[in-house]
Order: sequence, then structure tokens, then C-alpha cells
Amino acid sequence: MNPDKQPAKFPGLVHETPGGGILSGPLEDVVKWARSNSLWPLTFATSCCGIEMMSTAAAKYDFSRFGFEVARATPRQADVIIIAGTIVNKMAPVLKRLYDQMADPKYVIAMGACAISGGPFFYNTYSVVKGADHVIPVDVYVAGCPPRPEALLHALITLQEKIRNGGKRERIDIDGRNI
Ligand code: SF4
Repeated sequence: MNPDKQPAKFPGLVHETPGGGILSGPLEDVVKWARSNSLWPLTFATSCCGIEMMSTAAAKYDFSRFGFEVARATPRQADVIIIAGTIVNKMAPVLKRLYDQMADPKYVIAMGACAISGGPFFYNTYSVVKGADHVIPVDVYVAGCPPRPEALLHALITLQEKIRNGGKRERIDIDGRNI
């Protein structure tokens, strides 16, 4: 097995003591490690990609194996939103409000061609937003129409690696200004 692909180890030392143990390590690394292993996704899907997202959570692919099982129905208890489906102009302010209500630090995955660029609705439509990044910042993009569950799992693991490595992304508000 490629050692780079093994599950992330605790970034410090565990000193066994009678009846317990003492953990030591750089605080920043421990926080990033803990944060990357406790991502709570918001339940949010607008069209067909949502079915693939549900499949990723169901028994065959089971994203709880990687620590994503605590899907929340409220943005106030979630810190990652998977945009699974088409975003229409009417939905854009709602997406922005949900994002604003999520707990910081928060992360965004754009799943599928529609969330990345408007997908098959890119041309000749007045109603579809041509990419979620016109509304909120995106951390990881997943190509496909729709992407398979394996691709979404890969995106979630990529997000974990990005968090552990201290990856930052520029944040823009809905008018394109840095915030
Ligand atoms: S990318 Fe394809 S499968 Fe996903 S929401 Fe758009 S049209 Fe549907």
C-alpha cells in the first residue's frame, strides 16, 4: 500500500501511563487533525447529483467509514456543504444564507458539472447559475455528470488532506469582494 494513502495518524506522541495516557504534540497540528476528522455535512441537494450523494452515504459506499456520518439538517450544526445539483438564480440567495449560517471554519464541495459550471444548462438558459463559486467560495470540485460515489469520497478525503495541510482558500462574498 502507498504509505501516503494510509489513514492520517495522530500528529504527536502518546505516552502511556497507568490507567490512561498523555498526548503531546504541536497544538496547531492537533487542531487541524481533529478538525479534518470531524466534518459534519449539511444535508443539501438540489437535483440528480443528490442521488449519488445519498448513495455515498448509504450502505455500499458508507462515508461514515471516513468520519462524515453526522449529516445535519441545520447549517448551524454543519461545517461542510456538498453542493449536489443545479443552482438556479432563485436558489442562489438561499445557498448564500445557508453558507453564512454554517459554523466557522466551513468548507464547500461542488459536486458535478452543474455545481462547477452550470453543466448541461451552461448554454441558452436564463435561470441557472454558472457555477457555485459565483455565490460562495469552493474548496474542492468533483467532475462528472453525475460523479460516482467513489469520486465524492475522493473529494471528501482530499478536503481532509487540505485541512490537515493547513490549506487556505481565498474567500469572496457574493459581490466578488474579498472578505
Ligand atoms: S451534473 Fe448532471 S447529474 Fe449532476 S445535477 Fe447536473 S445534470 Fe444532474
